[in-house]
Amino acid sequence: MDDSKRFSRQIPLLGSDGMKRIRESSVAIIGCGALGSAQAEMLSRAGVGHIKVIDKDVVEISNIHRTHMASEEDARSSTPKSLVCKRGIKEIDSSIRVDAFIEEFSPSNAEKLLNGVDLIVDGTDNMLSRYLINEASIKLGIPWIYAGIYSWYGSVMLIKPNEGPCFRCLMPDLEGAIRGAGRGSRENFIPSLGSVTTLVSSISSTIAIRLLSGLRVEGGVLYAIDASNMSIEAIRVERNPRCPTCVMHKYQFLK
Ligand SMILES: [Zn+2]
Repeated sequence: MDDSKRFSRQIPLLGSDGMKRIRESSVAIIGCGALGSAQAEMLSRAGVGHIKVIDKDVVEISNIHRTHMASEEDARSSTPKSLVCKRGIKEIDSSIRVDAFIEEFSPSNAEKLLNGVDLIVDGTDNMLSRYLINEASIKLGIPWIYAGIYSWYGSVMLIKPNEGPCFRCLMPDLEGAIRGAGRGSRENFIPSLGSVTTLVSSISSTIAIRLLSGLRVEGGVLYAIDASNMSIEAIRVERNPRCPTCVMHKYQFLK
């Protein structure tokens, strides 16, 4: 397929070299729910050449309002979310190499799954996974983009290893963060609007596309999105000089 025609509207922004970099890049998306499915769709439309999608869950009818590329039939047949993403990406661009993993991102498989990728994108729904991604990112030297949603609010931050703060610098109170924003169960779910989760995904995907194409994008800036009053605030986060993860390289979550 002719890439110059396919990407004729984005090459003027990214340059031919930038487009080539995106085509040659490899991204891991952890979680294929609201955030991950939208990021998978946007990054595949932008031309990322290799995408790994990781999620152990299956599609349910209550996911459809916010999960990109998922259908009623996927909910009826309990299709794994990572396979829905893989199918969607292949329909968008058959030349993209997609590896789908129907497994939980965990301390025992984190390094294996992330080894060799250029960027990690957060599509998870819990703090524990984010601390784990953060440790793997710092240890392997791979940048990652934190993305979180909570009702009308969202937050996004690019973390570059060895450059500025990490996720642990942003959220030093490990126990409090895990307790306060654990995984939402069916009974104790976090309310959300698909348009807001997509907004948060769109900001993280734009950061991803800029980074992968070689354009300047700053790490360590927290974008705080409030869709109840339509505002986005950029907050500079400082590195904790005693951060156990990015300064002392003590890994508590990785096995
Ligand atoms: Zn840190």
